Formats: sequence, C-alpha cells, structure tokens
Amino acid sequence: MIAGPCSVENAEQTLETARAVKAAGATALRGGAFKPRTSPYSFQGLKEEGLKILAAARQETGLAVVTEVLAEEDVPLVARYADVLQIGARNMQNYRLLEAVGYEGKPVLLKRGPSATMDELLLAAEYILNAGNPQVMLCERGIRTFETHTRFTLSLSAVPYLHERTHLPVVVDPSHGTGHANLVARMAAAAVAAGADGLIVEVHPNPETALSDGYQSLTFEEFEGLMEIVRRVAEAVGKEIG
Ligand code: PEP
Ligand code: MN
Repeated sequence: MIAGPCSVENAEQTLETARAVKAAGATALRGGAFKPRTSPYSFQGLKEEGLKILAAARQETGLAVVTEVLAEEDVPLVARYADVLQIGARNMQNYRLLEAVGYEGKPVLLKRGPSATMDELLLAAEYILNAGNPQVMLCERGIRTFETHTRFTLSLSAVPYLHERTHLPVVVDPSHGTGHANLVARMAAAAVAAGADGLIVEVHPNPETALSDGYQSLTFEEFEGLMEIVRRVAEAVGKEIG
C-alpha cells in the first residue's frame, strides 16, 4: 500500500500524512515534488525542497518514498531522495526518460498513459527493462473514455490481463482512476479482488485545502476505512496487505 498526498505542500502536511498512513498500515509514502499539471498556472510542486521533506518523512516513519520524476535531467536529483521513481501517465511514452530511469536502476512505478493500450504500456516498460533495470511496476490509473461521471475510467480488467502477459507487478490507482474520494475505497477493494499486487492512494490532512487533487483525496479517517475493507477482500483472495 502506497499512500500520501498528491503533492508535497509543506513539511507538516507531509509528515502528518506519513504518520497517519503508516499507522493505518501503509508501507510506502507517495507525494509529488515535481508536478505535471494541466495548467502552467497551477501549483508545480516544491521540487528539491519537496524531496527533502519526503526524505525526512521516511527517516521518521520508515516508509519508502515514491515520487514522480518529470524530466530526464531530474533523474539523478530525484533518485538521490526517492526509493521508487514514478513515471507519470503523461510521460509514459517519453522514451528518453524511460531509458534514463532504466539506466539509473532504482525501482520504477510506470503509470499507464490515459490513452495508451496495453501493448503500448508493455512496450514502454520494455524501454526500462531493456536499459538494464528489471524493477518495474505497472500502474493502471484510468483511461480516457466518453464517460464523464468519473475523471477517468478505471480499467480493472487490465490487472488479470497484465498478469497473463507479464511477470511484472501490477499496481492500481483508484484515486486518479475515479477522481472522486467517495468511490476510492470500493474501487481499491475491487482492484485487490482483481488480483492487484499494490495500490496507490491519495490521502490529505484536509482535502478541501489541498493544492492538487483534493476532490479525490481521502481524509485520514476515510483511509482507515479503506484499509479495513481492502484487508477483508485481501484475506478473502489469499493476499496480505502490508
Ligand atoms: C499523481 O500520481 O499525482 C499523478 C500526477 O498521476 P498520473 O500521472 O497518473 O496522472
Ligand atoms: Mn494527483
């Protein structure tokens, strides 16, 4: 279970969230320091200052740090602080970036592009593997469809499908996949039932004031509720959440 804020906003917000998700049973902390925003006028992230805050949260809680690297030139900097390098959906086919994280060698969480097919996702992963890095996790985070009631359409059949096509672990992101906090816990449970190897979930001390993705972020209490339902489903399908 990877959980944490969409963006690292300040030390207090990140540390508070890290403590809460750790207490609820998460093993890794997510948080963006380099943010790929649709608008250039939206909050772009704290960059290196954000990475330092994540490292401090790891130091205190023992949680592994998962954070996005936006550009090839930032790979060495982000890799100094992160345990897992996240490649965002918008960058899934940024082949130079994929090669750079491949050569770097740290574990990579590769998010599916909003309009990418399964074949395109698998071939993107090949760029990282082919550069000599076998530690790749694939992430289904929702695709673009005609449907508007959710932000994206979470394609859960990707989980068993990818398990048939590859040995790589499959992580599901029900936060971006739905775009609505009230849908996240049940889709997380459904992902586990579909065989997901991991989940990545957005959590914020006060979602209403979040600088990004507040509408899909869970409060600490909601995250505890998610862990409860996810644990029950995991047990039913013979998996452990940790
Ligand atoms: C994120 O994880 O906050 C993010 C920007 O995700 P995606 O790349 O899937 O949109
Ligand atoms: Mn987000």
